[in-house]
Amino acid sequence: MADLNLVLMGPPGAGKGTQAERLVDDFDLPYFATGDILRAAVVEESDLGKEAKSYMDEGDLVPDDIICRVIMERLDSGEAQDGFLLDGFPRTAGQAETLQQALDKRSRRLTAALLIEVEDDEVVRRLSGRRICKKNGHVYHLEFDPPKNPDACDQDGSRLIQRDDDKEETVRKRLEVYHDQTEPLVGFYEDRGLLRRFDGERPQDDVNGHIRATLATLRLEAEL
Ligand code: ADP
Ligand code: AMP
Repeated sequence: MADLNLVLMGPPGAGKGTQAERLVDDFDLPYFATGDILRAAVVEESDLGKEAKSYMDEGDLVPDDIICRVIMERLDSGEAQDGFLLDGFPRTAGQAETLQQALDKRSRRLTAALLIEVEDDEVVRRLSGRRICKKNGHVYHLEFDPPKNPDACDQDGSRLIQRDDDKEETVRKRLEVYHDQTEPLVGFYEDRGLLRRFDGERPQDDVNGHIRATLATLRLEAEL
């Protein structure tokens, strides 16, 4: 079957992680979420975590050279050789160029950039109610996708926490950074015929259904 090499885009809180969790199961895709990788590095207090922490706490992006190194390691490790789903990367024009050049060099190409669109006010509502589990980062929302027990993950029983950068003030900063540095990539992928848009304000199941249908079509096209 044809490989799917995908990037998931959209503002913080659009539902990228929520959708990725389901797509990874459905399409058996290796999944790399730069935010998850960085948060794990911060917990481990590795060199990467120490470098990234202050930027993340402020709602800023970590510098391109640091994050590109992380993604290139994954692309070269063999883990991504049968396709990939990148979540949260690329986030700047420099990162998008680096990814494109890296794929060209390896004679691979992106299948699509999946953009989940959500308005800013909805982002703030979503992130203030977001809870993630401490062990595996499973995602919930107190109102829109509540766990059975408000303090524990339905899937692995670990404690549910609020991310430090989900405080309203940091969320506003992250949105500003998104509009300023990441949104221009919509044009980058549109110009290359790779952009696919999804209405992220629809219920989770609808968004999932639309993305699944698009991926099934892309896979068929790739096999022709
Ligand atoms: P991202 O990975 O894009 O930052 P998440 O997947 O973590 O976003 O989702 C942000 C919050 O919004 C979570 O609390 C999640 O449960 C909730 N959420 C995700 N998709 C939807 C949806 N379609 N409708 C309502 N809430 C959603
Ligand atoms: P996320 O979990 O995707 O919301 O990312 C959380 C934080 O990690 C961001 O606010 C950034 O500080 C950092 N981060 C994640 N991905 C990237 C990236 N591609 N480039 C720069 N910083 C990133």
